[in-house]
Amino acid sequence: MVEKVVIIGSGPAAHTAAIYAARAEMQPVLFEGFMAGGVAAGGQLTTTTEVENFPGFPDGIPGPELTERFRAQSARFGTRLHTETVTRVDLSSRPFRVFTDEREVDALTLIIATGATAKRMDLPGARDGELWQKGVSACAVCDGALPIFRDRPLVVIGGGDSAMEESTFLTKYGSRVYLVHRRDELRASRIMQQRVRSNPKIELVLSHVPVAAIGAAKLEGVKVRDVTTNRERVIAAGGLFFAIGHQPNTDFLGGQVKCDADGYVVTKPGTVETSVPGVFAAGDVQDKKWRQAVTAAGTGCMAALSAEHFLAEHG
Ligand code: FAD
Ligand code: NDP
Repeated sequence: MVEKVVIIGSGPAAHTAAIYAARAEMQPVLFEGFMAGGVAAGGQLTTTTEVENFPGFPDGIPGPELTERFRAQSARFGTRLHTETVTRVDLSSRPFRVFTDEREVDALTLIIATGATAKRMDLPGARDGELWQKGVSACAVCDGALPIFRDRPLVVIGGGDSAMEESTFLTKYGSRVYLVHRRDELRASRIMQQRVRSNPKIELVLSHVPVAAIGAAKLEGVKVRDVTTNRERVIAAGGLFFAIGHQPNTDFLGGQVKCDADGYVVTKPGTVETSVPGVFAAGDVQDKKWRQAVTAAGTGCMAALSAEHFLAEHG
């Protein structure tokens, strides 16, 4: 059987595409992944606390609850959901073929909404088998409440909204939070910066980069370097959290769709069309700039409508 549309992903882009496609009677199949890219089905919002800027929730809503609601709405209109990760695709001809470890599916159109995953720094001492997950993490919201971080000084690396959110969140657990950023100005939005700057438990360590994670069985400190003087010092810390951005989840495409130098799917400006006719991309996997739940949802809607128009034209 050939499906009209297969959607890959599980964040706001994928589920918005599914809601629109299902309501358009395209009977979508959605692969939500199983810890794909190291993130639970539901996507990046499963790793955050309150989402305060998604319309319709004036009091905010916890990220995991919002993603549960997206999923329930997709299911309500008949989307067939599989908790499987797509391992590869064959886009050499239509119908396209989509592979997981459990099945192969043929699809007349494909929507890629696989998002992005938090990046880690390759620091001495912080690698797998060293102090990774022994005080070093890339998700404060997932790990911050662990006992090893309680009442300890903690270090967050980054200057974007994630770093602001994570350092603010960690003040609930740590005795002090050092926010280490490589430049002398932050990239984060004004409101998030204000929260950090007005929090007495957070100390900004600007124009510094981390050079090593220190400790034997668990993290004891982070060696940092002042990029203006080259002087190094150790910040005593029980936790080191990377909040330095994301890597798009596009490896499974095997180079069959045009991606940019950072691995993001390239879409034709103003559309969600990729280099392969009938293959559309939505959300953070094709968006380096806005990367918000609501923009992901918006492009998810565009992808479903584009797939519908494509089928009407091409069958
Ligand atoms: P994602 O949310 O990235 O989800 C894609 C998911 O698809 C993956 O996580 C994985 O589960 C699945 N997947 C990946 N590969 C495969 C595969 N091969 N097969 C099957 N499934 C796969 N935005 C806001 O608007 N407001 C906020 O308050 C906010 N807070 C944030 C807090 C944090 C800590 C982070 C990291 C981000 C936050 N963002 C926020 C950004 C927002 O989460 C993202 O812009 C949005 O989730 C992107 O949605 P998406 O649908 O593109 O994909
Ligand atoms: P960003 O790409 O916005 O920021 C990454 C930060 O990490 C930058 O400050 C960057 O420095 C720094 N960085 C990157 N690589 C390195 C490195 N190798 N060494 C040291 N520092 C490094 O990513 P975010 O995850 O913060 O945000 C992604 C998107 O999600 C944004 O659109 C953001 O608005 C959104 N978001 C929204 C939230 C909200 O609204 N509540 C919460 C969290 C995220 P530099 O600035 O020098 O490039």
